[in-house]
Amino acid sequence: MNAIDIQQATVIGAGTMGHGIAQVLAMTGITTRLYDVAEDAVQRGLSAIQGNLDKGVARGKVSETVRDAAMAALSGSTDLQEAAAGSQIVIEAVPERMDLKQNLFRTVGEQLGPKALYASNTSSLSLTQIAEASPHPERVVGMHFFNPVHIMKLVEVVRAEQTAPDAAQCALDLARRMGKEPIDVRDAPGFASSRLGIAIGMEAIRMVEENVASAADIDQAMVLGYGFPMGPLKLTDLVGLDVRLSIAEYLEKTLGPRFAPPQLLRDKVARGELGRKSGQGFYAWENGG
Ligand code: NAD
Repeated sequence: MNAIDIQQATVIGAGTMGHGIAQVLAMTGITTRLYDVAEDAVQRGLSAIQGNLDKGVARGKVSETVRDAAMAALSGSTDLQEAAAGSQIVIEAVPERMDLKQNLFRTVGEQLGPKALYASNTSSLSLTQIAEASPHPERVVGMHFFNPVHIMKLVEVVRAEQTAPDAAQCALDLARRMGKEPIDVRDAPGFASSRLGIAIGMEAIRMVEENVASAADIDQAMVLGYGFPMGPLKLTDLVGLDVRLSIAEYLEKTLGPRFAPPQLLRDKVARGELGRKSGQGFYAWENGG
C-alpha cells in the first residue's frame, strides 16, 4: 500500500494529540474516524477541531470550503470495531502506557490484518516493544507528531526493529501528504527530538545551578546566538518541569549518566515548581504568560 492509497483512517484517543492528528488527516481529504472510550472525550475532540478550523477561517488561513470538507470527512465513535472497520491506517494517541498501546494494536491488528498500517504517536515508549504485541509487527511504525498538530511541521517516523521498509516509507509519504516534514529515525530511547531537547535542557539547568548566567540570559543565548524560537529554560517551563524530569530519568536509565537530571530540577519539582502550570518554574507565570 502506498500513502496515496490511504482513503480512510482511524485515530484512537481524542485528547490533545488525537484530535489534532484527526483534524490534519481530515484536512488532507482522508475520511477519518475519531475513537475514544468516553463519549464526552469524542465530543470534546470534535468540538476542538471545529474551533480550530473556525479560528483558521477567521484568520484567513483556512478556506470555508476546506473547513466544511474536513468536518464532513470526520466522525466520532466509542465503538472500536466500528471505528476501525475499513481503515487503511490506525494512529493511536492514547496515554503513554505500554499495556494500553499493546492491547489496542493487538485488537486492531486482528481486525484489519497485514495490509493496514499501525502507527503510534508515543513520545518515548519503545516501538519495538509495542510491535511485539501486534499480530503484524512489520506493519507497526512510530508517527510522533508535535503539539499543536495542525501547526507543527515535524513528524518523527520511528522504525521498530520489526518495521518493514515499505511500512516506514508509507508513513513518511503520508506525513508529507499531510503537509508535514518527516524525519526518519531508528527506535532508540528519546528518538531524535526528545534526546537532543533533553540534553540541551539539562545542560541549561546545570548552568543556572552553577550560576553561569540568569535563566533569561541563558535562554537569550540560544534565541539570539543560535536562532532557537524559544530558550531551553522557558521551554522547560512550558512543557512542565515534572514531565522533563521523568524523561531525563528514563534517558539516564536507558542511555547512561550523561542524562542524569540536575539536582536543581529535582528540588524544584519537589517544591511544586512545575513551570507555567503551577505559576513558577525558571520564570514566574501569571495568567499563562
Ligand atoms: P491526552 O490525555 O490528551 O489524551 C488521551 C486520550 O486517550 C483521552 O481522551 C482518553 O480518554 C483516551 N483514552 C484512554 N484510554 C483509551 C483507550 N483504551 N482507547 C481509546 N482512547 C483512550 O493525551 P495526549 O497528550 O494527547 O497524548 C497521547 C499520546 O501522544 C501519548 O502517547 C503522548 O506521549 C503522546 N504525545 C503527546 C504530546 C503532547 O504534547 N501532549 C506530544 C507528542 C506525543
